Amino acid sequence: MPLVEDLIKQGYLRTPKIIKAFRSIDRSDFVLPEDLEYANENTPLSIGCEQTISQPLTVAFMLELLAPRAGDKIFDVGSGSGWTVALLADIVGKKGEVWGIERILDLVDFGKLNLKKYDFTNKGIASIRKGDGYKGLPEFAPFDKIIIAASGSKIPFALKDQLKIGGRLVMPIGDQYQSQDIVAIAKNTATDFSAARYPGFIFVPLIKET
Ligand code: SAM
Repeated sequence: MPLVEDLIKQGYLRTPKIIKAFRSIDRSDFVLPEDLEYANENTPLSIGCEQTISQPLTVAFMLELLAPRAGDKIFDVGSGSGWTVALLADIVGKKGEVWGIERILDLVDFGKLNLKKYDFTNKGIASIRKGDGYKGLPEFAPFDKIIIAASGSKIPFALKDQLKIGGRLVMPIGDQYQSQDIVAIAKNTATDFSAARYPGFIFVPLIKET
């Protein structure tokens, strides 16, 4: 069964706009040439530099929790291959913005090259830059939504701070290379957050630059 239909059948993909993005953005455009034959399998794949393009099931799960909408301004921490940036750009549309950040220069270049296969950069909807996502992107904050594709022991303060009131943030929390929880938080006021946890995931670590 094709990947998207499978994710819908299993209940991971539910929202029409997210389903449309999964259909419009071809994961083959974001994997290494030697992995093209596996691009539409439900598995993470190496993108070099000891990093991975996330498993489709996990990305579907995180995007459903993030609840991106047309017009949203979204921050994607650990943009890697650029696949999630492209999915989000498809969802937010021409009135939205997606800001991807990645710490490894080779992957910044890889992500930008992949993203160019679509029209999002030209249209000013999406971009990828080199930087430390741990510190956020204060010059472009606040964001309606923040998604972090790398795990840590807690959500960095800067990212909570750069989230709009009423916004949502999704990040894996737990010990390195152990089973981790995907945590989804909603910012109710400047200091009050509600959180939900979903166990059973493993991500590469969010590296805190020194
Ligand atoms: N969404 C990406 C994809 O599907 O290709 C996920 C890539 S991978 C699971 C996580 C990425 O986070 C890696 O590329 C890694 O280099 C990056 N990363 C780790 N710590 C970071 C940091 N402090 N700032 C920015 N990127 C970071």
